[in-house]
Amino acid sequence: MAGLSGRFSAFALLAIVLPAAIVAVLGYVSLQQWRRSSELLFREQARALAAMAAEKVSLVLRRYEDEFLSRLESGLGGGPLEPRAVDALLESTPLIQRLAIFDRRGRRLYPVTWNADDAAILGGAPPDVQAALWEGGGRREFEVGDHVVVVTVLRPRQGAPVLVAWSRNIDVLRRDVLDGTLGALEAPTIAAVFDHRARRVYSRLSVDDAELVTAIPFQDALPGWSVALYQPSGIGPRYAIRRQLMLFTAAFGVLIAMIVVGAVATWQLTRRETEMAQLKSDFVANVSHDLKTPLSVIRMFGETLEMGRVTTDEQRREYYRVITRESERLSRLIDNVLDFSRIEGGRRTYQMARAPIEPLVHQTIDAFAYPLREQGFKLEVHVDPDLPDVSMDSAAVEQALANLVDNAIKYSADRRSVRVEARRLEGGVTITVADEGIGIPRDEQARIFEKFYRVGRSETQGRRGSGVGLALVRHVAQAHGGRISVDSEPGAGSRFTLWLPG
Ligand code: ADP
Repeated sequence: MAGLSGRFSAFALLAIVLPAAIVAVLGYVSLQQWRRSSELLFREQARALAAMAAEKVSLVLRRYEDEFLSRLESGLGGGPLEPRAVDALLESTPLIQRLAIFDRRGRRLYPVTWNADDAAILGGAPPDVQAALWEGGGRREFEVGDHVVVVTVLRPRQGAPVLVAWSRNIDVLRRDVLDGTLGALEAPTIAAVFDHRARRVYSRLSVDDAELVTAIPFQDALPGWSVALYQPSGIGPRYAIRRQLMLFTAAFGVLIAMIVVGAVATWQLTRRETEMAQLKSDFVANVSHDLKTPLSVIRMFGETLEMGRVTTDEQRREYYRVITRESERLSRLIDNVLDFSRIEGGRRTYQMARAPIEPLVHQTIDAFAYPLREQGFKLEVHVDPDLPDVSMDSAAVEQALANLVDNAIKYSADRRSVRVEARRLEGGVTITVADEGIGIPRDEQARIFEKFYRVGRSETQGRRGSGVGLALVRHVAQAHGGRISVDSEPGAGSRFTLWLPG
């Protein structure tokens, strides 16, 4: 039994725990791989999106400024520079915060007067940059303090070329350029723009709790500036994976729990089956032995009588009594086994009829008078005088009572006392058989009514029995709508109570 359950546990470990562990590991590894690849994909997509956004911003800014320059260029129109016309142009182009125009020799044409700030910001184009622009054209951006200054040379169709330098209004840049281009970016990604001093110039939503996904530098239009993409917390592949992982863990937990429950149930079933097989084999051995004992007594006494060895009448009568008693015991045993097999096969029937309890009790006790007397038992019988008749199968109830008395005798040790009582209770009748025998351990009291169950198994108590007696008693009780209960204390005795409804 121990070996079998040990083998079962080892088998369960291999057959259940191992595959479960493999599934768990594979599931975890594939989830991690999925997380890595989807994060990679997500980052690549984000980079492409950020690059596109940066290009779009540059493009819009260029277009804005190109338009301003072409209007300025056409305003230059050959004649002397009109500062008021430039003022008006600046007014209608709020993006341009400061503007300065110089001629080829570096003389300032616009503004007429300028303060120290203007000078510091717009006058700072290095001479070599200026020279390169006069020679080759194009446009250069460079940082002066907080500002980005753009310098280019305008060559109007009529009139002399001029060098133009300007800085941008950050608020207008934010409102007209950045918001127009980045604000439309797909949610839930948040785009933010940082200037060359890493200060956040723009973001559609707060990025305080968000996680940086990627940052891409702007090209020439905004040197040192960058556009960054964020993902708000709780969104994105990492969180999706985390949710998936939780789901997977929960599902796996349920699976494991089901496997464990299944394994335990199977183990219990196997244990019960093995136990039952053991009990059955005990049963066969016990019944055979039980049948053999009275048979050999009958045979021995019969043979002695036959050989004429018994001389006195008194002794002869005694021999006959023994033979009769042992035959009765034999038929009781055989009846028990036959009835048990009928119960097992669902063929046991009961013939109910209203009958008094008292004669039944005395009849049963009488059948045990000889062994009780012979083994020195003190017998007490009490039957309430006004007992109602009970609807019952008298033979079956007698058999049940006989089993209880037989057990009381069988499981008594030094204190030999049997008390049988029949009382009125709850509209029915109780028949109680009490002894002062070896008693039954508390945790086994419920099990003794199971078929084949014997306390401490077969012979450990030194008493033979088939283990079906109490199962029969319980069947009889239930068939009558009654119940059987036991109250027992190991070493002090047992008290079995059969209650039958009136
Ligand atoms: P058995 O043929 O073994 O007596 P039963 O079904 O009659 O089978 O009883 C089941 C078990 O219950 C017994 O083996 C014994 O261990 C226990 N038992 C029954 N009656 C008594 C009793 N009066 N005192 C102590 N133990 C008892």
